[in-house]
Amino acid sequence: MSVYRNRLLTPGPVELHPKALEALSRPQLHHRTDEARAFFQAAREGLKQAWNTEGEVLLLTGSGTLAMEALVLNLFAPGERVWVPVHGKFSERWAEIAESLGLEVVRKDLEWGRVVKPEMVEELSGPFHGALLTHSESSTGAQNDVRTLAQTFKSRFPNALVVADMVTSLLISPVALEAWGIDAAASGSQKGTMCPPGLGYAALSPRALERLKPRGYYMNLAKERKAQAEGESAWTPAINLVAAVAGVLGQVLPGLEEHLRLKARQTELLYRAGESVGLKPVPEVKSPATTCFYLPEGFRYAQVKEAFARRGATIIGGQGILKGKIFRISLMGYSDIYDAYAVAELMKDALQSLG
Ligand SMILES: *Cc1c(COP(=O)(O)O)cnc(C)c1O
Repeated sequence: MSVYRNRLLTPGPVELHPKALEALSRPQLHHRTDEARAFFQAAREGLKQAWNTEGEVLLLTGSGTLAMEALVLNLFAPGERVWVPVHGKFSERWAEIAESLGLEVVRKDLEWGRVVKPEMVEELSGPFHGALLTHSESSTGAQNDVRTLAQTFKSRFPNALVVADMVTSLLISPVALEAWGIDAAASGSQKGTMCPPGLGYAALSPRALERLKPRGYYMNLAKERKAQAEGESAWTPAINLVAAVAGVLGQVLPGLEEHLRLKARQTELLYRAGESVGLKPVPEVKSPATTCFYLPEGFRYAQVKEAFARRGATIIGGQGILKGKIFRISLMGYSDIYDAYAVAELMKDALQSLG
């Protein structure tokens, strides 16, 4: 036996932080108790700090996609016009959500793996009620400069709201709301917060809070905001996960800068290792959340996956149009520099074993 436990190298779910495991091993909490309210407030405050916002972060029971849908539902009305650049599976998800909720979607399709350029914003003709952007596009490993994009968009359309998918940038890259011109953002528990899946986070700047047009029943963010101000939620929350998030944030936030440097360094090591054995990176600009390579010439994804599996590691392939063309690995979970060196060597070994 070469490994004692399998390692998840997938871009969510990820290896769990020990503080999450510790929280999840406690007896069941009741969500309408002081103890639960304290976890709820700690998780919300920690996420506000992580997002650098004076607004609110609402915890929703569901996955990251639920937070994305809740934001579109509560910030825009049917018929409103939004700009959605599409360059991967998750940016495409914004377009699909907005269309399903009756918005007019002005789509800008790019080759998957590319990033959005400010010139693309300059070319737009309004009016626009908003833009739906993706910070870290985990399906291609690309990272957009959402700060410049948001500021450019706002300078053209000052009344519009900019909403960003920050699912794999929160606690992985620096992020901010107001300071970057971003009005609202989404993430989820099974990515940078190193917890199990089950919570979506909806972050709202003070400007977005003023512009809430609550719709829906379960996903009504005005109702959530009222309940969460009291440390509760409108409906029974995944309170065990809330306690896990509070525990992890309590540990990670005091050393956040160092944590972000580690994530950047890990990804750099993985790209360097892959490129040293001839692999070609997918993204135009690399996100520290996911390392994406085209499959080596003449090999199928199943073979690469199997080579990692034989070494005790679970990786993931491409989605949508990149299915069967790429493989992806990620250390956004609980992992440090030792893991990065080990995974870099293991990757070289796995690929060289293919011949
Ligand atoms: C994981 C992920 C999501 C949300 O996916 P869920 O499965 O709903 O949690 C959204 N955007 C990006 C970039 C992601 O990586």
